[in-house]
Amino acid sequence: MNKIIVTGGTGLVGKHLQKILPHAFYLSSEDCDLTDIEKVRWVISSYEPNIVIHLAAKVGGIQDNLKYPADYYDDNILINTNILKVCKEYKVKRFIGILSTCIYPNMVKKYPMSEKDLFNGPPPPSNFSYAYAKRCLAVQIDAYNKQYGTKYNYLIPCNLYGDHDNLHNESKMHFITALLNKIKNSKDGKLNLLGTGKPLRQFMYAGDLAAIIKLVIDNKITDSFNVAPNFNYSIDEMAKIALKVTGKDYDIIYDKPHLDGQYRKDVSNNKLLKIFPLFKFTSLEDGLKQVYDKIS
Ligand code: NAP
Repeated sequence: MNKIIVTGGTGLVGKHLQKILPHAFYLSSEDCDLTDIEKVRWVISSYEPNIVIHLAAKVGGIQDNLKYPADYYDDNILINTNILKVCKEYKVKRFIGILSTCIYPNMVKKYPMSEKDLFNGPPPPSNFSYAYAKRCLAVQIDAYNKQYGTKYNYLIPCNLYGDHDNLHNESKMHFITALLNKIKNSKDGKLNLLGTGKPLRQFMYAGDLAAIIKLVIDNKITDSFNVAPNFNYSIDEMAKIALKVTGKDYDIIYDKPHLDGQYRKDVSNNKLLKIFPLFKFTSLEDGLKQVYDKIS
């Protein structure tokens, strides 16, 4: 039987994975601070996993990334380098690292972006150091596979939302939860959003990423690929879908247009669908309804 360790097991994706992979060992930062390589050695040598699913990362919003770029670089470089190096030292058979589509170039000539575009330009200035630290994990995995013959891989998911988001700290909430929370709490029939509503985003239900991770393990897939649904809605379209599924008829008011961020960053899921042609993503309508039912 597989012995699986999941780093970042207390996060949004980790909690979704717990439902479908209940027998893995889910680590928090308290169980093992991955920036400390001796603690990582201790965990891997004590548990002796044959599979490590690496979800842990120092993750935060744009403002935090702009204010503390050094922390985002240092922590993520150490977290990623330590866990991968130790997995190789202890001959862990499978390693699945989770990157993010926000590490792709800020702009490319042709969308959606494919896996080949990952290094074709600098990442967005707003999360530059976080993105570079995450890109280094891809470089490190590919380098280990070449030099040591390991069969490690990485998945590159788009923006996520799910059932277990932080509802007590607005600055830590993911966009969709914050949107649904605003709808739930509106007292004046208005939905106030930042920016212009025009940027396009791919959002995926975190349970879908968890399902793909399980399929990757069960089918012994060692390719690295994007994980994102086909739909790429504007913020305005998403807000309208959210109002529809929650049965509210609020006016959407846009504020602070300069806070729009990247216009688009959609990625192709062609490679994923070649590997898992029958995979069906949760529709945004169904996912939003599920999360709204949880928070209301
Ligand atoms: P999350 O909810 O922010 O959780 C982060 C996890 O990392 C927590 O379990 C946290 O442990 C752990 N962690 C942070 N610093 C650590 C350290 N120094 N040592 C050990 N563990 C540490 O993250 P998520 O949303 O589930 O994301 C999982 C992965 O998917 C990340 O790699 C992220 O970059 C990627 N991703 C996320 C999104 C998204 O929209 N959420 C989109 C694309 C990709 P504690 O709970 O103990 O702090």
